[in-house]
Amino acid sequence: MIDTEATDLPELPELPGDWQRALAVVAHPDDLEYGCAAAVASWTDAGKEVVYLLVSRGEAGIDTLAPEVCGPLREREQRASAAVVGVDTVEFLDHRDGVIEYGTALRRDIAAAIRRHRPDLVVTLNHRDTWGDGPGAPRNTPDHVAVGRATLDAASDAGNRWIFPELTERGLEPWDGVRHVAVAASSTPTHAVDAGPGLERAVESLLCHRAYIEALTEQEPEEYVREFMTAATSRDAARFGGRPAVTFELFPR
Ligand SMILES: [Zn+2]
Repeated sequence: MIDTEATDLPELPELPGDWQRALAVVAHPDDLEYGCAAAVASWTDAGKEVVYLLVSRGEAGIDTLAPEVCGPLREREQRASAAVVGVDTVEFLDHRDGVIEYGTALRRDIAAAIRRHRPDLVVTLNHRDTWGDGPGAPRNTPDHVAVGRATLDAASDAGNRWIFPELTERGLEPWDGVRHVAVAASSTPTHAVDAGPGLERAVESLLCHRAYIEALTEQEPEEYVREFMTAATSRDAARFGGRPAVTFELFPR
C-alpha cells in the first residue's frame, strides 16, 4: 500500500534526465537490486546506457557456502538480475567481500572504471554509517560505507590527470564528464524516480538472487521480495505525488 499521508518534508523533484551513460558502483551482488533496480529499468527503457561495477563478488554472503563456491554463484545471479533491467555490462573489481577497505587503491580502481566508461551519471549506495537516522537507526555495513565514499571521491579523481598518473600511463585519459553522483537509499534523499514502470522487473531482478535470499529468510522468496520492494518504494511516496519512488541523494559536481 502506498503511504500518501502528509509529511513536513519537501516534495522530491524528479532526478534530472540530462544524461546518457550511467555507471553504478556498489560493494556486493544484490546491492543495486535492493537499492534501485526499478529506476534502472526506467532508464534503460528510455534508451540510456547503464553499466554495473561490483567491487566484490559477495563471496562471504552465504554462511553455508564456502567463498570459492559462493563467488561464482553470486556472479551468475548478478549477471542475470542485471539483464532483467536492461544492463548487459557487469564488471567485478575483486576486492575481498566483507573487508573492503576505503583508501587510494579502491578510489583508483573506481576512477579507472569511470575513465573507461565515461559516464555522465555515477550511482552508488548509501555511504553513511546508518540506514536512516535518529536513535536506533540500523548500522550500515563497512563495505557499503567504503564503496560509497570511494565512489563519491573517484567521480572527481577520474577527472584529475595528476591524482593517479599510472592510469594515464595505461591509456586511461582523464574523464571530467561526471555531472552528478546519485546515492541510493540515502536517509536524506533530494530527488526521486518513478518506480511504477520498472517495479515488476525490479521484483524479478531481485528474485534472481535466489540462493542469497533463500539463505537469508524462511519466507517464500517471491513474497519476501514483493513485501520488501513495496515497502521500500512506498516510503517516500508522500513526497512524490503519491507515486512509488526510488529516491536518491544527488551530489552535483
Ligand atoms: Zn551489500
